[in-house]
Amino acid sequence: MSVLEIKDLHVSVQTDQGVTQILRGVDLVINEGEIHAIMGPNGSGKSTLAYTIAGHPKYKVESGSILLDGADVLTMTVDERARAGLFLAMQYPVEIPGVTVTNFLRTAKTAIEGEAPPIRKWIKDVRESMAALRMDKSFAERNVNEGFSGGEKKRNEILQLELLKPKFAVLDETDSGLDVDALKIVSEGVNRAKENTGLGLLLITHYTRILRYIKPDFVHVFVNGRIAEQGGPELADRLEDEGYDRFLTPSNVG
Ligand code: ADP
Ligand code: MG
Ligand code: MG
Repeated sequence: MSVLEIKDLHVSVQTDQGVTQILRGVDLVINEGEIHAIMGPNGSGKSTLAYTIAGHPKYKVESGSILLDGADVLTMTVDERARAGLFLAMQYPVEIPGVTVTNFLRTAKTAIEGEAPPIRKWIKDVRESMAALRMDKSFAERNVNEGFSGGEKKRNEILQLELLKPKFAVLDETDSGLDVDALKIVSEGVNRAKENTGLGLLLITHYTRILRYIKPDFVHVFVNGRIAEQGGPELADRLEDEGYDRFLTPSNVG
């Protein structure tokens, strides 16, 4: 049974104005197979949490810890985090000129597993996953994220998720800019990963829409750098009706 534990995490970022505290004591435990939705107003620090888990150098951990099956994630390089079983899909994916989707995936898979996957099986797996995500075959030969539409970027993220089979994934606003059809396809991919590999998921979203297709086990409301409230799926329904206004008291707005 795998577990990702975030304990009393404080994170700052250096800006022109000096050091700004963004995360102010985040506590979160995600077990294998669990889906946790993090919701919250813009600027509450959701992406900062995702970047910190990913090991983005811009974000400085002041105190607290992130443990994956007891191992200290914060001392791992970005590559080591991937090998340990973490998958991070960013709100703004980067272009990788000259590297095709197929080659990128095979290189990533090789790095994570420590050996290259057998070529025939790999090609079959890639084809199957692409078909499941209703992706055109030609997509495999395109350069990573180069000229991808919003929907193509998101599908590519889920393609990576399906093929790399991480223990835990962080999806940051995967729903933004997707039409309903693409949202359904992407959500089915996530649900398959949960079913097939016991994926644990941190699903960051501003809107409740994606939660109609990916059912969270837990919902956390993020306000001003920490979790202000948590509950089950019913909390998402309540947020859909009420928005975030009741969380934005003067003492909560940083
Ligand atoms: P969310 O994803 O919830 O919208 P973010 O984590 O993106 O929130 O941002 C939280 C706060 O931290 C915002 O006030 C934002 O301006 C600030 N912030 C985040 N990243 C940076 C950065 N790299 N440089 C300066 N400020 C940042
Ligand atoms: Mg934002
Ligand atoms: Mg964000």
